[in-house]
Amino acid sequence: MPIYEYRCGQCAKQFEATQSVHTRPEDTICPFCQAQQATRLLSAFASKIVGTHKPGFSEMKAYDMLNERKSKFSKLPPVFGKRTDPPPMDAVASGSPPISNNTDPPGS
Ligand SMILES: [Zn+2]
Repeated sequence: MPIYEYRCGQCAKQFEATQSVHTRPEDTICPFCQAQQATRLLSAFASKIVGTHKPGFSEMKAYDMLNERKSKFSKLPPVFGKRTDPPPMDAVASGSPPISNNTDPPGS
């Protein structure tokens, strides 16, 4: 079933819904405020599925790789999962010299 993107007319939040192609936008209930004022958006993902009759071999392979990558990523130990922390200052200093020492104008 295709995935549709909606924007709620009540709370203006966007959400996705996997629905039958026969489901009307006015039947869609906002998961945030339960209003039935959703308008359907044309997401790139949904239109890609709708516009493709049969996925070609390369496309299927791409989806396989994507799924494989997703499953690998989910299996990663938590150490690799959280790399958002900035490196400690001493590691940065030992890796590259401070820029301020190299940018002195030569004629000062
Ligand atoms: Zn809403």
